[in-house]
Amino acid sequence: DAKQNGSAQYRFYDAASDRTSLEEMRLEQELELALEKDQLRLMYQPKFDIRSGQAIGYEALIRWDHPVHGEISPLRFIPMAEKSGMIVPIEQWVLRTACLQAKSWEREGLGKLPIAINVSQVHLMKPDIYESILRTLEETEFDPRLLELEITESAMMHNEEHVIEILDQLKAAGISVSMDDFGTGYSSLSYLHSLPISCLKIDRSFIRKITTDPDSKAIAEMIISMAKQLGLKIIAEGVETSEQVALLQELQCYNVQGFYYSRPLPPEQVGRTNVS
Ligand code: C2E
Ligand code: MG
Ligand code: MG
Ligand code: MG
Repeated sequence: DAKQNGSAQYRFYDAASDRTSLEEMRLEQELELALEKDQLRLMYQPKFDIRSGQAIGYEALIRWDHPVHGEISPLRFIPMAEKSGMIVPIEQWVLRTACLQAKSWEREGLGKLPIAINVSQVHLMKPDIYESILRTLEETEFDPRLLELEITESAMMHNEEHVIEILDQLKAAGISVSMDDFGTGYSSLSYLHSLPISCLKIDRSFIRKITTDPDSKAIAEMIISMAKQLGLKIIAEGVETSEQVALLQELQCYNVQGFYYSRPLPPEQVGRTNVS
């Protein structure tokens, strides 16, 4: 009908969106070489205990320094890497680099710092992910008990049986797993209970509105009390204001991450800046 014709025609003449997808395709190809061309690097965002003001760990966050486009956000290139499969070698590189970095911090006298890396659903589904992670930990002599994997709530909801199996193995090796972006993925209470995870990260979208929107506050409050019931640790992400800190403290959520305390840092700044 006419409506269908119209939209088909619109698509046919949409040169701008053609250009976009062409650029995306080009980026996707360039991403294949980004690793060997040494264009990827990690920033480290501390997690804090608001009671002591001390950093309790560091999350590795990837950046792509593109020779023409400059810094490209992971929000843009991680989905490409997931599509092409490059996410697996990229995240293996992230793990190795973060472990080596932590060993180097230790040699510099900063102590044994816990690190967290983000693991994509595509990577999580690789049959040899457990062996691959363990091999990297051995090769870098990094203590598994200092490693945390952050997996988004939605990623954990694919192939639930398999996810439980993998997480059980990782847990037995001493590695801890957090559910990232919690509150955005609609996981069921019973599934949450059956998962061998140790921590929930409350998604930034709730924290952003926690002092202004009663619903967001109610949701955060519910997540915090549920975590307590289930014996899970809890951390709030995206904390930007002192009002948010005060409210979280009132709700007895003492672990936070966010620009109010620290932005992601280049490795040479970790441990140098004392935030309190
Ligand atoms: P995420 O794991 O939830 O990480 C938190 C993101 O929020 C980071 O963005 C961080 O810079 C940002 N953030 C932290 N505190 C604040 C705050 O107070 N305000 C605001 N507005 N933002 C804050 P970034 O580094 O751009 O990373 C975005 C996402 O990209 C990450 O979200 C994560 O899902 C993904 N990502 C990064 N590195 C990797 C990786 O190695 N593998 C995978 N699969 N995903 C990654
Ligand atoms: Mg994360
Ligand atoms: Mg997160
Ligand atoms: Mg997030």
